[in-house]
Amino acid sequence: MSIDNQDVVIAGGSISGLLCARELAQNNHAVTVLEEHDEIGIPEKCDGLISVNALSSLGVIPNKHTIQNKILGARFFSPSGKLIEVDSPNLDIVVLNRTKFDNELYENAIHDGAIVEKSTRYISSNSHNSHITVNSSRHQYNCQYFVDAMGVSSLMKKQKFGVLQAAKYIIKANWFNPDKVDLYFNQLLSPGFFTWVIPINESLAKVGIAGYGINSFSNLDYFLKDKKHTIIKKIACPIIVSGPVDQFIDNHNICIGDSAAQTKPTTAGGIFSGGLAGLFAGQSINQSLLSNTNLVSIYEKRWRDTFGSEFNSTRRFRKIFDNLENKHLEEIFDILSSSSDLQDSINKSGDFDFHSLTLLKALGIKRITRLFNIVSSNEIKKLFNN
Ligand SMILES: Cc1cc2nc3c(=O)[nH]c(=O)nc-3n(C[C@H](O)[C@H](O)[C@H](O)COP(=O)(O)OP(=O)(O)OC[C@H]3O[C@@H](n4cnc5c(N)ncnc54)[C@H](O)[C@@H]3O)c2cc1C
Repeated sequence: MSIDNQDVVIAGGSISGLLCARELAQNNHAVTVLEEHDEIGIPEKCDGLISVNALSSLGVIPNKHTIQNKILGARFFSPSGKLIEVDSPNLDIVVLNRTKFDNELYENAIHDGAIVEKSTRYISSNSHNSHITVNSSRHQYNCQYFVDAMGVSSLMKKQKFGVLQAAKYIIKANWFNPDKVDLYFNQLLSPGFFTWVIPINESLAKVGIAGYGINSFSNLDYFLKDKKHTIIKKIACPIIVSGPVDQFIDNHNICIGDSAAQTKPTTAGGIFSGGLAGLFAGQSINQSLLSNTNLVSIYEKRWRDTFGSEFNSTRRFRKIFDNLENKHLEEIFDILSSSSDLQDSINKSGDFDFHSLTLLKALGIKRITRLFNIVSSNEIKKLFNN
């Protein structure tokens, strides 16, 4: 087997890996991405919900055919069907076709000089004094830095907790709102998470469910049983709600994106936080290669400075939420629907990417006092002492 010398080898050709590759290739480093599938972005698991602000922070302007829909608000349903509806046109949220989006990132990366080896599986890597050897199903590489962007399959070799089994269907139906995302809360059907409906257009939607210890397909079928629909596609995929791993870097080995559990603990969204990890990692490897000094700790610091406190807060929301029963959820819906604070706080300070403050403001001090009576939890105190 021939040995190929590269500055950087990245395993995983999705958002985090391709953005890291683009950054390195733009700075004229020799970078190869290994992607086990023969097509980029397939199978498509992600629903592609992201803010336009986040896209511009990632330096990506998606093609108009990649944007499937614009989202103007959300509808929250309690276990018994109580509805809270909010409008959020100012948050500028779009639904991406993730396969097309990843292919745009792929085109950008190869345009800038990265090599992307499809149908090539990462097997193993070994660190030596002066370099790292990476073995793939097709070649062996010697490189200075190795980046693990292999997603949840790589994370699960490090940790099992905080990974929920999810099922997702693309359906044809007419009972959802084509402009709004629906979130259905029910701790029996989707314990610790929710069922979501993300509209693609008037007649197509992405419907998913996740939860601790559930049979996600049968629970999703149960959710849909009284709702007329036709299933176009079925996908099984884990989502990550643990918050980030303790360490992103081991000398010249770096993990980014889902492999480092860099997804929001509330919603499991990771396009922005994982994509930015790819950029930060690429930039710090670039600095390291130029100065011949290992400066990759800058990546971890920048990521934690950007997302650390937000993810700590949302992890606390999650701990509170995990312990709620359906009767508590009903009371919280009553509290929230008794005032316009949720809509007001979205209007004034709504932020899709950093939403812990919006959640806190929406609850407000008076309602938090009532919440104390519903769930007595140290986590609530910690939220306010943060
Ligand atoms: C059902 C679902 C819905 C989601 N919806 C949203 C959403 O609406 N908004 C949002 O922000 N986030 C969402 N996410 C999360 C988002 O998809 C991920 O956070 C994001 O894709 C992480 O990107 P990544 O590059 O780190 O990993 P991944 O996208 O998981 O990519 C990993 C890549 O590594 C490749 N790979 C794996 N093993 C190997 C190997 N041994 N050799 C070579 N290649 C390998 C895989 O084929 C894949 O291409 C969703 C996730 C799921 C599961």
